[in-house]
Amino acid sequence: MYPLGFFSKIFQIEKDNHLLCVAQYNSISLLAPLFFLIVSSSLAAIAFISMGYAPVFLTIVIPLVLLVGDLIIFNGFLIPRSDSSVAYPQLIVSRLHMTVWGVAGLGMARIFWATSLFAYADRETQELIVALLATSTLGASLCLIHLRVAALAFVAIVMVPMIAFLWLSDIAVLVILAIVLALVTAVVIYVANRYGLDFARMTMQRQEMEIKRAEAEHLSKLNMSIANQDSLTGLANRRAFMAHLQDLVKNGSASWEEGLAVGILDLDGFKQINDVYGHMAGDRLLQEVSKRLTSILFGKVFVARMGGDEFGIIVNDARCEKQLVILGERICRAMQVPYKVGGFSANLGGSLGFARWDSNNDNAEELFEKADYALYHAKGNSRGGVMIFNEKHAHAIKQNSSIDRRLQNADLEDEMSLVFQPIVASENANTIGFEALARWRSPILGSIPPDIFIGAAERLGIINRLTSVLLKKALIEAKKWPESFYLSFNLSMQDISSHEVMLKLVSIIKASGFDPKRITFEVTETSIMSDCDRAMESLNFLKSLGAKIALDDFGTGYSSLAYIRDMPLDKLKLDRAFISGIDTDENSAAIVQAMINMCWNLKIDCIVEGVETRSQFKALGAMGCNIFQGYYFSRPLESDDALAFALTQRAIEEVSGEKFYVM
Ligand code: C2E
Ligand code: CA
Ligand code: CA
Repeated sequence: MYPLGFFSKIFQIEKDNHLLCVAQYNSISLLAPLFFLIVSSSLAAIAFISMGYAPVFLTIVIPLVLLVGDLIIFNGFLIPRSDSSVAYPQLIVSRLHMTVWGVAGLGMARIFWATSLFAYADRETQELIVALLATSTLGASLCLIHLRVAALAFVAIVMVPMIAFLWLSDIAVLVILAIVLALVTAVVIYVANRYGLDFARMTMQRQEMEIKRAEAEHLSKLNMSIANQDSLTGLANRRAFMAHLQDLVKNGSASWEEGLAVGILDLDGFKQINDVYGHMAGDRLLQEVSKRLTSILFGKVFVARMGGDEFGIIVNDARCEKQLVILGERICRAMQVPYKVGGFSANLGGSLGFARWDSNNDNAEELFEKADYALYHAKGNSRGGVMIFNEKHAHAIKQNSSIDRRLQNADLEDEMSLVFQPIVASENANTIGFEALARWRSPILGSIPPDIFIGAAERLGIINRLTSVLLKKALIEAKKWPESFYLSFNLSMQDISSHEVMLKLVSIIKASGFDPKRITFEVTETSIMSDCDRAMESLNFLKSLGAKIALDDFGTGYSSLAYIRDMPLDKLKLDRAFISGIDTDENSAAIVQAMINMCWNLKIDCIVEGVETRSQFKALGAMGCNIFQGYYFSRPLESDDALAFALTQRAIEEVSGEKFYVM
């Protein structure tokens, strides 16, 4: 069994190794003409030298038949040696088989023919026939070397019988020739076998390397797409968006001549749906949104998901603002079409901010920030609308940056001051306390409204320093007041989120000698929300000193009743937004009434801000409200004026017995 197995292995075509078969086929096709040249020329030479000795049948007919056989084998390789052959593995394997059988048959025919000629030839011619046959066989086998089976078959079939024939001739010269030829044949067989195996191994290795390279290429493509693609929607992600924008801006001129613009779309109402229906539903909604976006945005428009419910849009041919507005409105309308996702239907809106490329000064980041700024205004001014970054926005940004610069270098002690707005109680509308409101007069910019500079101080990280300066100033003034007046002082988010700031404020209060029980700290919902635990800690700390806590601007933010329940509050300040329509609008009145009732039930004071008219005051009084603040009573005043106002108010009541404000 063993030698049989060995031979069957040697003479096998590895038909499952397609790449090897292709390589063998290509190599043999290339060398086939040479093979044909060697075998046919030796055939012609042997026939020629045998003429005159041997019969015509052997010197002309048989050689012609063999020549046709050679041609057929040679022709076996004439199918095109292009990539198309790779697509037909079966065809290649059968051609290789044909080659092996063909050369084996050819070899056999040659050896029979050559030995037949021997009988007619003299010694010299015999030796010449042997030499021609042997050299041509060994040489031709080299042309088959990549197809090991064919090479070995050809050599073995011709050389082994020939050597045996010479050996058995008993003629000394021919026996010596047989020995030499046996040696050479053994070497050629050995080398052909080795080379064939090496060739197969190398082809395999090349194949493996090819596979590995393809895998690496596939992986790197996958990596690239993961790094640049949003996995949920399949859109480009923020990173790809910014890279693309940077490219466009860098290779600029062409794009900005046509009009390059960046848009940021933010969904309105997505968060609520996500909260109510869960993240799965939210994900499907985002997928639907991205589908709608890609279906309406085509041509020179690039869309990406920037994260959350925010999408980025790059428009490459925004020739005018009007065109952008039309595009933006189309997007917003598409967002508003009700969504049917899974088992529920939902309504969303979209706000869109656009910024057009300005050739003078924009880089990619600036362009994006402008679009973001426009989005911020789109959300604030007209929900579900489109806003294009304009001159006014640019001016405001410029102003903000100069405010930031001046505030950062400001002498806070010197430039900051306080005004005080009376807070009055309902029984006699007499002042019971004052809210300290900060004022900044910059020597260069003039008066800046607190809404702006408080925000800037928070952004710049100097609010804690500012709060300390203001509290010190407020306490100096408050110390001048009769004991019945309390001080209401505003804290910002960054104040209550820092334990160090709390300690600092306490040390300021202690140093002032002012009774902490006469201080109310005003905090907003947003400042509590950012870090509830820390806020709770700070507020409890302030309360432990005896100070009171008021929740400011209630009704403007999230107005979550959970904060009222969980936070250690003493007072609630209803935002002035509710008060303006109180005497005319039934809904506003109903909301305010409900909040006043809630405060009664929770036993916390309810202070109504922004009372501007007598009718508002009357309406609120009728609802059971007992503490007020607003222009109707007094605008914020300089410290001395505020005190004078309160004392005069009291004096008038004492002298005349009349109430200052009559309901
Ligand atoms: P706020 O705490 O809600 O302060 C009340 C604001 O409403 C004040 O504006 C006040 O002048 C205004 N106001 C009072 N009564 C009326 C009224 O009847 N009608 C109208 N239309 N407005 C009225 P102001 O002084 O411009 O302050 C704006 C905001 O700046 C404050 O709102 C507060 O959030 C912030 N702020 C002011 N001072 C400070 C401070 O010292 N620290 C902190 N952190 N924030 C402050
Ligand atoms: Ca306040
Ligand atoms: Ca307020």
